[in-house]
This record gives sequence, C-alpha cells and structure tokens, in this order.
Amino acid sequence: MNSIYSYTRDDFINYFLDIGEKKFKADILYDWLYKKRVTDIDSMNNLNKNVISKLKEDMFIDNIKIIKKDVGSDVVKYLFELSDNEKIEAVVMYHDYGTSLCISTEVGCNMSCAFCESGRLKKRRNLLVNEMVLQILEIEKDINKRISHVVLMGIGEPFDNYENVIKFVNIINDSKGIDIGARHITISTCGIVPKIYEFASLKTQVNLAVSLHAPNNELRNKLMPINKVYSLNELMKAIKEYINITNRRVTFEYIMLDGINDTEECAYELSNLLKGMNCYVNLIPYNETNNIGFKRSKSVKIDKFYDILKKNNISVTIRREFGGLVSAACGQLRSHE
Ligand code: SAH
Repeated sequence: MNSIYSYTRDDFINYFLDIGEKKFKADILYDWLYKKRVTDIDSMNNLNKNVISKLKEDMFIDNIKIIKKDVGSDVVKYLFELSDNEKIEAVVMYHDYGTSLCISTEVGCNMSCAFCESGRLKKRRNLLVNEMVLQILEIEKDINKRISHVVLMGIGEPFDNYENVIKFVNIINDSKGIDIGARHITISTCGIVPKIYEFASLKTQVNLAVSLHAPNNELRNKLMPINKVYSLNELMKAIKEYINITNRRVTFEYIMLDGINDTEECAYELSNLLKGMNCYVNLIPYNETNNIGFKRSKSVKIDKFYDILKKNNISVTIRREFGGLVSAACGQLRSHE
C-alpha cells in the first residue's frame, strides 16, 4: 500500500486503466486531493462505490504532524514528525512577491559540508514523495494561504534522493493539482554531477541552484567533501551543459565565511570561473551556529566582494536575511534535537 500523495497524475491514469476504469478519473481524484483538499476517500462523491472501495484497498491518505512552530517576523519554521518518528524542518517565508516554502528532502544529510548544521546528523533515510508533498499541504492548511514558490533547500541533498525529488516536483507542478509553476520551483545541489546531466536531459523549466562556496578545488575540497568526488572542473562542465540544453540561467550560492572564501583574490578567481556564463551569484551572509566555528564575513568585505563581481560583469545579489532569530536560516535546519 502506498500513500495517495505519492502518485503523479500519470501514475493515477495507469492505475485507473489497470483496474478497467476511464483515465479521466485521475483528474477527478487530483481535484479532490489538491484543489478541494479532501482527506477522506469516502467523501469523493462523484466516484462510484467500486472505485472508492478499490482506492481504499490500494492506498491510504496520510499526514505528517506539526510538532513545533517558531514564528519570526516574516518567517515561520515548522518541525514535523514523520510516521516513523523521524523529524524534519521546513520554513515559510513571506516576501513581497509571494509566499515561499523551503522544504527538506532527506532525514539528515551525508554531504558533510564543513559549515552546515543540517549535515551534523548523517542521513538516516530519503524522504518519500508523499512526505515532501505533505510539507506543502500541511503548511498551506496551517497558514490558510497558498504557497507560490518552493525551494528544495532544507535538510538533505535533493540529488541524493533524485527519483523521489523529481516525482515530487512533477506532482506539485501539475496544473490540475497544486499547480506551482516550474519557474517557481528551485532545486539546490551541492554538485552531484551525474544528476545534473540527468536533470538537464529532462529539459524542465525548474530552476537549478548550485552551492558553490569556493572558486578553486583546494578551498572547495576543504569546505565540501563532495568536491573530492566531483571536482570543480567536472562540476562547471556539467553546469555549462545544463545551460546549453535548457537555456536556463543557473544560480550559484556562495556563503561568505570570514577570512576563508571572502578575500578579493577569491572574488577575482570567482569572476574568472563564471565569466560569460548565463548565471547569477547569490552571496549569502553566513549564519553562525553554536556548534561550528566559522564566522560571518564583515559587511564591508561582502560589499567589496560584490563590487568586484559586478565590475567583472557577473550578475550578483546579496541575499536578504531570513529567519536568523528563529534559527530557520540556511544551514540551520536540523533533523535532531
Ligand atoms: N544540499 C543542497 C540543499 C541545501 S540548500 C545544497 O547543498 O545546495 C542550503 C544552502 O544553505 C546551501 O547552499 C548551503 O551550502 C547553505 N548553508 C549551509 N549552512 C549555512 C549557514 N550556516 N549559513 C548560510 N548558508 C548555509
């Protein structure tokens, strides 16, 4: 038995054809689940009795429990408990352009980036498709508002849970369901190169963000162990291929760590690395945590770094800060107490 929230509409079409029903029932079911948000198969009163009993036999409607909420001025952090008692976090952010949700993709994370709190708990398991979909459904119910943007930037490495993540994106993007536009969805990766090629070949309009954080192998090896598996050269090659195939602009995330990757030299090196690419750089002031020694760069350094990139014609922004007071900012989400 599977969760009803783990089916794409195509999956439902195949399901209904398999049980000898018309395929348009998939649309009806999607409407109940994602437009009307009904959580009880028995109330789907335009499906006949046979279909209802078959559905109840073959799948279940589940939920994930909100066990804690930290409310900041324009952000709310949610702690969820999953059916096996594992915990994950998700964060809602209110922007002037809409409401975005940062969701988790795994329980814990194996990428071991030196600066990141989320990775202090090693990966315990992938999130299931329904557990990602339910982060949206439960939060929309709680805030009584529609989420307009989804970023896969919570706990976990999305491309280390590739199949479930792609299925999840397919479900939330479906215009007959939750209907979040592809251009309003962003997947962030630390650089799992084969999956970048795979993702490129899908040719979707979904945004790709890459956590770069260093302009050379020596430094990136120290900060992000994944770089020892897929070096910067391989990573850049894959990203260029992605841009060629999709014609989409890539976002590079670059956290600013005091005295580590925020020197003028790094800024010049980064400019060279990205010259001529269809990309933009998001400079993220590092969020300090109690458990990790890195410090945030001074704001004059961040400004200087920004200026150098600008002068070299690299599009760049400094990320507005969200969630600091409630520990809901990038790299502060956890799967553990
Ligand atoms: N694993 C994916 C998704 C996580 S996204 C990835 O690496 O892209 C979370 C982003 O926050 C990543 O860019 C991560 O490098 C960054 N980050 C981690 N710790 C941070 C911190 N303390 N302050 C600011 N950003 C941080």
